[in-house]
Amino acid sequence: MKIRECLKDMVPYSPGKLKPGAIKLASNENPLGISPKASDALKQSIGSISLYPDGACVKLKNALAKKHDLANGNFCVGNGSDEVLVLIAGAYIEPGDNAITSQTTFSEYTFATKLFGGTMKYAPMIDGCFQLDVIASLIDNKTKLVFLCNPNNPTGTSFSNDALRAFMEKVPKDILVVLDEAYREYVDRSDFPDSISLLNNYSNIIILRTFSKIYGLAGLRVGYGIARPEVITDMEKTRAPFNVNSLAQAAAYAALDDTDFVNKSRAVNREGKTYLYASFDKLGLKYYKTEANFILVYINQDCTAAFEKLMALGITIRPLRSFGLNDAIRVTIGTPEQNEFFVRCLERVLAQ
Ligand SMILES: *Cc1c(COP(=O)(O)O)cnc(C)c1O
Repeated sequence: MKIRECLKDMVPYSPGKLKPGAIKLASNENPLGISPKASDALKQSIGSISLYPDGACVKLKNALAKKHDLANGNFCVGNGSDEVLVLIAGAYIEPGDNAITSQTTFSEYTFATKLFGGTMKYAPMIDGCFQLDVIASLIDNKTKLVFLCNPNNPTGTSFSNDALRAFMEKVPKDILVVLDEAYREYVDRSDFPDSISLLNNYSNIIILRTFSKIYGLAGLRVGYGIARPEVITDMEKTRAPFNVNSLAQAAAYAALDDTDFVNKSRAVNREGKTYLYASFDKLGLKYYKTEANFILVYINQDCTAAFEKLMALGITIRPLRSFGLNDAIRVTIGTPEQNEFFVRCLERVLAQ
């Protein structure tokens, strides 16, 4: 067998580690688990599993449209927003094209681009922040997509509404800006982009949201893109017929309504954030202020070794070596008990 040229230098994704019995603060999942409303909906949906799902996710899209004050045709639902990224690249990347993103961001942008024979160009990340001006300056006549992550995974930093609008003014209208807002619901800053309103001014933006984080449905795989109908129509051509299963659709629909659960998740996150900031300050560790449900912290020692030691103590985090940060880890903000346990373990590892 001869593998396609563009796959030769690619390596399979390496997910956050699971260890039976360990507390997992490695993949930014919701420490409160699943929304009770979603859980009930799942139980009720089991009986219909012998039937194919609604291939067009009509009920879910209608609910999303109502929530965001848009139309059904503004949405594309995927098997996680990971799949939506692949649908986008599948619609717009030809071999030889390029896309642009930043260093130290979500690796799936590069994966999706390379899968279709594109190359990725990277702007530097400075102090954990996207350099939107540099990204704009990298655009050339082979550029088809720009990927922005706001708040950014793994740094937790974000850019403002003004910064995004200024950036959109610089991007040619035939280049699609993919704005990944997987952590949008955790954001506290008041000048965060009102990204959906940008659809009124710009035809070349797509916003990605997910049910994997604050809605607590990571295992079911549901994410979606919000864009002008022309963009959605292009992407729909690359989508497999029944990409989102019926349990996932039912749970996502119910979770969308569970504002109690979302508010509680946000409150727990805020409390954990304050506690972890104070703990890192006490330990003299540098970290980035976060707008998400995780914190990047520099631990002044080898992150792979620290990861192994923390795992031996019963907790998993994400070492950031694959991002070129050999002395940094990303820790998901957990419940108060999980956060305290993490800090105790980290203190032991740092003392060694
Ligand atoms: C977790 C995450 C997603 C969500 O992926 P799903 O496929 O929807 O689970 C998307 N983008 C970023 C940056 C993430 O961290």
